Amino acid sequence: MLLGAPRLAARSRRHRTRHSSTVTCRSFVGSRDRGSLLATSDILTESRTSHKRWLSTPGAPGHDEDSRRRCRTVGTSPSSRRDRPAVLYIGGSGRSGSTLLESLLGEMPGVVVLGEVAHLWERGVRLDELCACGEHFSACPFWSEVGELAFGGWSHVDLDRVTFLKDAVDRQRRMLRTARRRAAPEVHDLAQEYAALFVSIYRAAREISGARVVIDSSKVAPTALALSHHDELDLRVLHIVRDSRGVAFSWSKHVARPETGGTEDMPRLTGRQSTQLWLSHNLALSAVAHRGVPLARIRYEDLLHDVSGTIDAVWRRLDLPPPAVLPMLDEHTVELHPTHSVAGNPMRFRTGTTRLQPDTEWREAMGTRERRIVTAMSLPLLKYYGYV
Ligand SMILES: [Zn+2]
Repeated sequence: MLLGAPRLAARSRRHRTRHSSTVTCRSFVGSRDRGSLLATSDILTESRTSHKRWLSTPGAPGHDEDSRRRCRTVGTSPSSRRDRPAVLYIGGSGRSGSTLLESLLGEMPGVVVLGEVAHLWERGVRLDELCACGEHFSACPFWSEVGELAFGGWSHVDLDRVTFLKDAVDRQRRMLRTARRRAAPEVHDLAQEYAALFVSIYRAAREISGARVVIDSSKVAPTALALSHHDELDLRVLHIVRDSRGVAFSWSKHVARPETGGTEDMPRLTGRQSTQLWLSHNLALSAVAHRGVPLARIRYEDLLHDVSGTIDAVWRRLDLPPPAVLPMLDEHTVELHPTHSVAGNPMRFRTGTTRLQPDTEWREAMGTRERRIVTAMSLPLLKYYGYV
């Protein structure tokens, strides 16, 4: 048995969705890529010394005891060791279907989705952007209650300290340190302090929602590696991959950001840029398994071909608490309901009856030259994932 029975606070009932009526609410280096990956390695090597020097700098932001005290989180005492929140971390490269996967999982009983928690501090607490429920972060009743329960209110979170910790342990260039099975004590301590902030959020969200599984779709490997240093977290990673050509085509399109009232677009990338990200993000996630974290991988295309079967299989593979029942209207149709996903792709705002079918527009609309570049850059990993 993975989990104890969730503690249900009376106030949690106010935040349950109708689903909670029962409960709640990427071993290769391709010739064209070897240069960029080696360059990344050089950066990582160079960063080792500067990082150590920086960590020991007394004047570093948030390095004082007062900052540590203000960032202290709830529920990390030894007495709560049995109360380890089960967290399913969705990993993958951007535009690979992670937000859709999160939305689907959010329809399952016993699951609460939080969105990209790694961005909560900036986009939620600091910038007060829109929650997927349509309210600004500060006005969202769910996140207000999570902040109150986790920290005594979001105003008690020292954002400078969070930024310091994020720079120290949650960056791609820090992965050589955080991915080690036996990390240096100072790295482990900083990662644990950083992860404790997340764990407080997970615990509060679980208590408020009554869910048994908390979903964090922060996507990137460095965050998952930092979380793996927390011994009171029951962490599993679900890695979703998508054909690099489809990903590159998606990055080339204009997509408005609803969080800004449609005045800003999501960032756009060239095929070469998006494929570099695709390679590094997917490869980096393999390091999570090196840390002993259970890891399962699914393909976006397989998910949309057989939604229920894919989710059921992955739930079993990761030994998550049953039942893995996705309420479908038919084999390829689902009714999506509002969530409190705090940050991520605009897809998180989509609700209502949704037809699930893979986005294959790239096969017809992608330029020949762009397609050749992306295919050549990613060919070994495309083969590894079974796309060619
Ligand atoms: Zn909300």
